[in-house]
Amino acid sequence: MQFLKGIGEKRAQAFERLGVVTVQDLLFHLPHRYIDASSVTPMARARVGDDVACVGTVVTTGVLPTRKGLRIFHAVLRDSSGTLECAWPGQAFLDRVVVPGQLVLVAGPVRFYHGRQMAPRELVILGDPADADAGRIIPIYPATDGLSHKQIRAILAQHLDAMAALAPDLLPEPLRRRFGLPVVRDALFAVHRPVSVIDAELGRRRLAIDELLDLQLMLARARQIAREGQRGTQFDVKRTLTTQLREHLPWELTADQKQAIREIFDDMTKVERMHRLLMGDVGTGKTVVALFAMLLALENDYQAALMAPTELLAEQHYASLSRLVAPLGVVPELLLGRLGAADKRAARTRLADGETRLVVGTHALVQDQVAFHRLGLVVIDEQHRFGVEQRAALMHKGDAPDVLLLTATPIPRSLALTRFGDLDASVLKARPPGRGVVRTALRTPAHRNRVFEFVRRTAHEGGQAYVVLPVIEESERADLRAAETMAASLTTQWPDVRVGLVHGRLNPLERDQVMRAFRDGSVQVLVATTVIEVGIDVPNASVMVIEHPERFGLAQLHQLRGRVGRGERESHCILLTASGDVPERLRAFAQTDDGFKIAELDLAERRHGDLLGARQSGGIDFKIAHFPDDTDLLSEARALARALLEDDAMLVKRENRPIRERALARYPRGDVLFRVG
Ligand code: ADP
Ligand code: MG
Repeated sequence: MQFLKGIGEKRAQAFERLGVVTVQDLLFHLPHRYIDASSVTPMARARVGDDVACVGTVVTTGVLPTRKGLRIFHAVLRDSSGTLECAWPGQAFLDRVVVPGQLVLVAGPVRFYHGRQMAPRELVILGDPADADAGRIIPIYPATDGLSHKQIRAILAQHLDAMAALAPDLLPEPLRRRFGLPVVRDALFAVHRPVSVIDAELGRRRLAIDELLDLQLMLARARQIAREGQRGTQFDVKRTLTTQLREHLPWELTADQKQAIREIFDDMTKVERMHRLLMGDVGTGKTVVALFAMLLALENDYQAALMAPTELLAEQHYASLSRLVAPLGVVPELLLGRLGAADKRAARTRLADGETRLVVGTHALVQDQVAFHRLGLVVIDEQHRFGVEQRAALMHKGDAPDVLLLTATPIPRSLALTRFGDLDASVLKARPPGRGVVRTALRTPAHRNRVFEFVRRTAHEGGQAYVVLPVIEESERADLRAAETMAASLTTQWPDVRVGLVHGRLNPLERDQVMRAFRDGSVQVLVATTVIEVGIDVPNASVMVIEHPERFGLAQLHQLRGRVGRGERESHCILLTASGDVPERLRAFAQTDDGFKIAELDLAERRHGDLLGARQSGGIDFKIAHFPDDTDLLSEARALARALLEDDAMLVKRENRPIRERALARYPRGDVLFRVG
């Protein structure tokens, strides 16, 4: 760095504080924003009450004391339209910084004080008027003590041509063209010396993709290795059962469902083992997608198993699958822990000799005594509720069966792609048409009576409702008491309504009993802590009241809300806040129904999430790429990585070697992934 003209020891040290050590670093020290001088307000048009940005030359400066002893720095600026007075109270030191003749940018509100006067929020010294050409886009660089933005700009302006000329583009030309990317040199010119803000952004995107590519190469290579030696079953689309199901479905599949089925069939017809995650909010119709996968196994003379985290959910799956496959002559089996010994034995025999082709169950499926005749596909619902061992145990019941995981907890795309770039995921976004809509309302304590009156009326009219209370660990006892008190007081207030209570202190059997009573309609209003099962399907329940919504995470609120809106009726989710002040985050929540958007909001809120059953930190630091804004670039980088590896898995071809070297320089531990032999 010190070899560059204009950079001495002092400046080199200042650059180091900005993370700029080499010439290469300097080249990639990108502006964090731009000022479009063509959108700047002419001074004559800056009116009192406006908030504007102006660019002009400093005419005079001075420091004026006020009566209160506060010293104010003043400057008068001029542009071709007129002049503008600016005042910086308490910033007399600016007297040494801002001097007549300089070209500066100021931005802030214009007020009236003996005439128009701006109180700048922002001050950027652009340089001497000589190097200012109007209409130019001015890059603003991250700066530091002893190294101003202006100095960085001058150094880059001076050296950019020479440095950029030497910047190599590591992407093979045909691939670069296929992805429609500019060459690195042009991208660098675009960011440092932009013709327009859009031009600069296009350049930045190219550089960001390069930055993301290294990690995606590692992830894609890890995925390749995981699959080698993971030969699974190569299924054939025989179009018997799968086609029959399609013909017998009572409704049309959504476009998302069709796409997911295509992706799953694609995996299953390959030799490599499938390991795919199907993500979709509650009610998006994951079950039928899983059923298509299971029938593909069946029509290849393999068995398929679906494992659910609770008996209730297993029964629910069993009931809906049975209905769907009845016309096909397939009879599913249900295997639960609570079956009698004789029934269990009979069920196990049918599984072992292959008479049962499709089985639904709980973790009872992974018990030692259970053996399959020929297990080809394993589907795990709400996979994060199972431990790794339980999942593995089910997979080991077959000879490398394909695996499909279902989850109603969407993983934000930015996280999925940086952390789990090797994860194959299919996504169901849209809900099937004709399903009930959930309206979300925010209510304050003033509305309390009306909200509960509404719950009571719902019960009177034959509907059902949930009333949910938070449980915070530190005060669990008190919280439970709150739920108990609520259930008791509703029971006394409403002698004509059947009220039930579930909470985490009940044992699974008791809890199951209450949930069953609610499902069967003998309980009309269910007071609950957050233990209501994910995926529980009580179509008649159309109202959910959530007390203290402030105390829930957004993702959790979304999961809760998914329990209603499952029937024909219009459904309501009412957030009953503890105070009259409704936080902005709850307003944002009430306005969207998109699980992925909420997952992003939730992630931003917590900076980490309990995803895939493990706590993951929210992001990886990149210099150029920013999340979630650049999420689309991640997919592009991933596609690029896969394309590169597809035809040269170890990146040993001459044209690919520099890419490999760069990636390994950034991720040295990835070395093992690219070692030959
Ligand atoms: P998830 O498991 O994703 O929460 P389910 O698979 O339980 O959702 O489906 C929710 C409901 O939607 C079920 O009653 C199912 O029968 C119904 N369903 C699924 N796909 C469609 C579709 N394409 N059109 C109409 N209804 C559908
Ligand atoms: Mg489900």
